[in-house]
Amino acid sequence: MLFMHIRTRFAPSPTGFIHLGNLRSALYPWAFARHNQGDFILRIEDTDLERSTQEAVDVIIEGMSWLGLDWDEGPIYQMQRIDRYREVVKQMLNAGLAYPCYMTENELNLLRDQQMANKEKPRYDGMWRPEPGKSLPPIPEGISPVIRFKNPIGGSVIWNDAVKGQIEISNDELDDLVIARPDGTPTYNFCVVVDDMDMKITHVIRGDDHVNNTPRQINIMKALGGTPPVYAHLPTVVNDGGEKMSKRNGAMSVRDYQRAGYLPEAILNYLARLGWSHGDAEVFTKEQFVDWFDLKNLGRSPAQHNPEKLLWLNHQYIQNSDPMRLAEITEPFAHELGIDTESGPDFVQVVSLLQDRANTLLEIAEGVKLFYLPAPQLTTDQIKENIPEAIVPALKDLVDAISICEPSKEAYSAIFKQVLAKHQIKMPALAMPVRYALFATTKTPAIDSVLVVLGKEEALNRLSNVFLD
Ligand code: GLU
Repeated sequence: MLFMHIRTRFAPSPTGFIHLGNLRSALYPWAFARHNQGDFILRIEDTDLERSTQEAVDVIIEGMSWLGLDWDEGPIYQMQRIDRYREVVKQMLNAGLAYPCYMTENELNLLRDQQMANKEKPRYDGMWRPEPGKSLPPIPEGISPVIRFKNPIGGSVIWNDAVKGQIEISNDELDDLVIARPDGTPTYNFCVVVDDMDMKITHVIRGDDHVNNTPRQINIMKALGGTPPVYAHLPTVVNDGGEKMSKRNGAMSVRDYQRAGYLPEAILNYLARLGWSHGDAEVFTKEQFVDWFDLKNLGRSPAQHNPEKLLWLNHQYIQNSDPMRLAEITEPFAHELGIDTESGPDFVQVVSLLQDRANTLLEIAEGVKLFYLPAPQLTTDQIKENIPEAIVPALKDLVDAISICEPSKEAYSAIFKQVLAKHQIKMPALAMPVRYALFATTKTPAIDSVLVVLGKEEALNRLSNVFLD
């Protein structure tokens, strides 16, 4: 056990909508494999032909790549392993571990109705299950059988779930599972077992919606001579209202977050904490996460999705990003908004001016717009309304001082102080008209920094345009 080579997997079904919470089931097994220098396998469970889509596969693969969740093997598509599953079904039939069942859909429904009427739990009654000394009904003509697994009778299945503790399910609760349909296609739980065995998975870390499948999977695996892996069933991710996250109640896909300007490291950090903790650490790097990750600190209660916390984390990461990199990843957002980042001040400088306050890359992109619009053409009325006549002498002093100073933040800040002191006015009285003169709005980042980024010459031109006489 000590030197076990850890192998984990993420086994999504590419059906329907893949939201952020779904990727948590990729993050934990990935981190566990990386922490233990093991292998992480990506397996696409696409046997539900009606519901599986390439689009969903793309969303999964893109999302994982964007978050940097690299896999060592795969993607392995179950649809490409159908022959293997059929082979194992055959082996099981030959070994007497499974048997053909000719009960029709209709008969099964009748049986169920009867059981329900008798207040019994509906289950297959074992009619076609061969037993020593038991004679089976004559095989009906024209009916293709399903293949059922001979579930053990009596006793129970016990496993020590790494999240939920010991779970025990009586075998009496489990009827003989169909492992192959009449057309020979294998069923879901069976494929999972064959794959987990063939892929030598040591730890199955997945959502707790699979707890009910686990005893069945363990029984089949044992019948095949395998050793069941360690299971860790993760509690569901719920929204503020305590409902399971879904598209209907506002869950977003990773792509949506990417488009809204979230950083992958913020998402990763957020997902890491969605059901796992390390002391009171809230902001940590991917490397720290891998370093710290263990199964024993997985939470037992439902993890609550908290969009505000995610936004807060994103802000933390934006604020602490290297401006060069931030500019690089913000540029596509700016282009999307129609901003020509070449025609204006240095983009890295503009971005670094905004990074302290922004929550998303989209917000930065919206903020940089100001610096790439042409100089405002203010009407006389606009000027009169926004640049009080009383402030004009101070504004003129400011322009004079700027025109002969070093273009630095410190110099601009000193000039503002001098002019304010000389004219006995407060900062907003001067800064607001200056902002308006520069951009036709009073909402800008700190004025001394703005002047540096805009450039002295451009700033002086714009300021001089508001002197009416
Ligand atoms: N394909 C299953 C799902 O997407 C996961 C199966 C497993 O992890 O065992 O829910």
